[in-house]
Amino acid sequence: KEKVNRTRKQNSITVSGKNVPAPIESFDDCNILPQVLKNIVKMGYSNPTPIQMQAIPIMMQGRQILACAPTGSGKTMAFLIPVINSLKKPKSDGFRALIVCPTRELARQIFRECTQLTEQTGLRTYLISKLTQKHISKGENISKKCDILITTPNRLVYILRQEDSKMDLKHVEWLIVDESDKLFEVGVRGFRDQLGEIYRACDSENIKRAMFSATHTVHVAKWCKKHLKGMISVGVGHRNT
Ligand code: ADP
Ligand code: ADP
Ligand code: MG
Repeated sequence: KEKVNRTRKQNSITVSGKNVPAPIESFDDCNILPQVLKNIVKMGYSNPTPIQMQAIPIMMQGRQILACAPTGSGKTMAFLIPVINSLKKPKSDGFRALIVCPTRELARQIFRECTQLTEQTGLRTYLISKLTQKHISKGENISKKCDILITTPNRLVYILRQEDSKMDLKHVEWLIVDESDKLFEVGVRGFRDQLGEIYRACDSENIKRAMFSATHTVHVAKWCKKHLKGMISVGVGHRNT
């Protein structure tokens, strides 16, 4: 217990919530699938960053999380590793993980990392882009052929609203909201309402949600406390509001 506190302190990790698992100090510490571990090494990562140390064991236990850590601190791998690990093998039920982020560039970046991390696992990742959106609009049912979906809210909501939409989010076990502070903003483009629609479309009984962002916003924290059962809040470094 003391060691856990020391490790957190040394890495500027703060946590709040019930029964928070101990941070890992190495990627070998928490039953990551051998192939995923191989892929992590191949990508050049030898040790977890502070947010990865704490978020990975939390999500590996299937706990919901609100994570705040500075830009460049490795948040992408902090959610990709536990999500991929929990999906394990490809299935043809429909998407089992959905990652939503505010910009197309970011979506592409996450897609690239996810593709590398799922190498040789058989898991298939789908990125909704201008091009692939056309396939979906024409009625192609991609849901059954892929495991992980990465998208900006606009594009997904557009697809969900189509009358004959074959987009099926009923099997989503993990909903990841990256840069959640931005997606919660009430803006011209109305990300907030779009996120609500996506949230409602993911209506599986055992859905788990994870919010990641660089800044801690009171609004997001309050929302998570109210809606995410058993949620753990993790912060790294200073709280920049
Ligand atoms: P954030 O989302 O927190 O802004 P990213 O996930 O984009 O950060 O990661 C920032 C950079 O750190 C990326 O170039 C990524 O490849 C690298 N990175 C991620 N995890 C590790 C790690 N465990 N060790 C070294 N570099 C890492
Ligand atoms: P489209 O490709 O038609 O523009 P997208 O959903 O892919 O539709 O667009 C996402 C883009 O919208 C991002 O590149 C982002 O810069 C911009 N954007 C819209 N609203 C916001 C917002 N509230 N905060 C940040 N970026 C936003
Ligand atoms: Mg990021």
